[in-house]
Amino acid sequence: MNDYNEIAQKIKDADAILIGASNGLSITEGLNLFADDEAFENLFRDYKEKYGFRKILDGFFFRWNKQEEKWGFFSRLVNHYSGNYTTSSVMEDLKTIVGDKPYFILTSNGEGHFEMSGFEPQRVYELEGNWIELRCSRLCHDKTYPALPIIRKLAEVEKNGLVSSEFLPKCPVCGAAMDLYNAQPPKQEVQMEWEKFCKDFHNKKIVILELGIGWRNQLIKAPLMRMTANEPHATYITINLGEVYIPDNIKDTSYGLDGYLSDHLNKIKQAMVTK
Ligand SMILES: [Zn+2]
Repeated sequence: MNDYNEIAQKIKDADAILIGASNGLSITEGLNLFADDEAFENLFRDYKEKYGFRKILDGFFFRWNKQEEKWGFFSRLVNHYSGNYTTSSVMEDLKTIVGDKPYFILTSNGEGHFEMSGFEPQRVYELEGNWIELRCSRLCHDKTYPALPIIRKLAEVEKNGLVSSEFLPKCPVCGAAMDLYNAQPPKQEVQMEWEKFCKDFHNKKIVILELGIGWRNQLIKAPLMRMTANEPHATYITINLGEVYIPDNIKDTSYGLDGYLSDHLNKIKQAMVTK
């Protein structure tokens, strides 16, 4: 048996699947927050010239002078990567791999692609929030609101990096500016679902599938490795391009796949459906 067949069997036998995902998955889907690549050049050439941005992330840390300017940038960004999103082949493969099993997803990706691909929102814990929902900037109440209808409108009226103030999202309760949902505090329904998942599948056969997380990541990778060490029937599968790291204490129950996420997931899926 090769690794793919073994992994496929582990997944088939599992009681539940826990997915951890970070930048590597976004990059596989064509969204790179860190690169001055062709996609960045095409979408944000004017921002490179006007503000000196060298990557998408620069826009997240920029001190915008006014809301009209801030929403000009974010509406273009979010509309491009989420407003027009259709489920990618890598997400399709992941859905096939998960099948009907109970699952939970921990991710630092904020583009909302899991939910938009059909994974249930309450089972997707976005530890750094997402950009497909809005919340009151004063946090006068907890509720989040769908961002994409507003984003699409803003992207339509955006001109030279500015949107007209009449279109800016306002809190329906207190009238303050709205912000993209930043996950602080976490959503109660997601937190509850996560605690329930950990309790329900403690001591059970759990497959931990880690997708494109840097080897030193403390937010998601470290807790997943700890969980593997503490759970007697856990299997840990890490897929990464050039950064596969598995500590000695869990190496007997782990698989490390170096290379492109899309290739490895597709091969795991093939191994699952052809048997
Ligand atoms: Zn408010």
